[in-house]
Amino acid sequence: MNQQATSEPGLFVVTGGSRGIGAAVACLAARHYHVVILYRSGTAEAQRVVERIQGEGGRATAIQADVGDEAAVLDAYRQIDELGSMQVLVNNAGITGAAGKVDAVSFDTVSDVFRVNVVGAFVAAREAVRRMSTAHGGRGGVIINISSGAAQLGSPNNWVHYAATKGAIDTMTIGLAKEVASEGIRVNAVRPGLIATDIQNNRSAEQLSRMVAAIPMGRMGEAEEIAETVLWLASPAASYVTGAILDARGGL
Ligand code: NAP
Repeated sequence: MNQQATSEPGLFVVTGGSRGIGAAVACLAARHYHVVILYRSGTAEAQRVVERIQGEGGRATAIQADVGDEAAVLDAYRQIDELGSMQVLVNNAGITGAAGKVDAVSFDTVSDVFRVNVVGAFVAAREAVRRMSTAHGGRGGVIINISSGAAQLGSPNNWVHYAATKGAIDTMTIGLAKEVASEGIRVNAVRPGLIATDIQNNRSAEQLSRMVAAIPMGRMGEAEEIAETVLWLASPAASYVTGAILDARGGL
């Protein structure tokens, strides 16, 4: 079993935990773990998540770190090491970049989206493996990557660059899961569909209603519904699940 059986709750690290899906994951995880949220710029939002968790009797810490900046991630991990022993990483921080067709996308947009969504997830996962792998003296753990239904749909005409980062995340999930399966670490991904968070602010109302109409369940998902899926994957109930990519998108 991957989970630690100690009285001290293990650390549950969520990148991009200040808002949206990450904040929902952090709040739910705080029932069982000491939660550490990483965020880039939303200090007030991150503080609100921490205060909410503490108000409910949980333990939470917020650390400012741009996951697309290796030095910042390494510094965040140094702070995490002082808090305790890491048990779970949720690679959730993600951006879409500006919308546009591939024939118009800028070098900077593609670079930024890949740097945050892919390079950031790799660096955070590398540091987690170095701490949790039994081959490195750790006690095992769980990594959960937040992918997107876009990885399969391709998001033509708007966000092919974003969709491609999530395809990379799916592939990383499969490869890393096999690489560390014998080292006590399970690696899985969740592929959300259309979830009601701030990330939708870059879509027009018309675009959103067209997308909702295509969802078999006929509605957007809530961040809390993704959080439940993530917490199940993190739990001992999923002890034989690794390399899985779980669709949570209302049938889309
Ligand atoms: P969101 O509401 O926009 O929140 C994004 C979070 O990521 C914020 O906490 C933000 O912190 C953080 N973040 C962004 N860039 C960062 C960076 N460079 N370093 C550290 N933190 C950073 O987004 P969301 O909808 O919750 O999405 C979360 C994840 O789910 C993303 O990976 C996204 O691709 C994926 N997803 C979302 C949907 C959806 O429909 N919402 C669907 C499929 C997949 P700051 O505010 O401080 O920048």
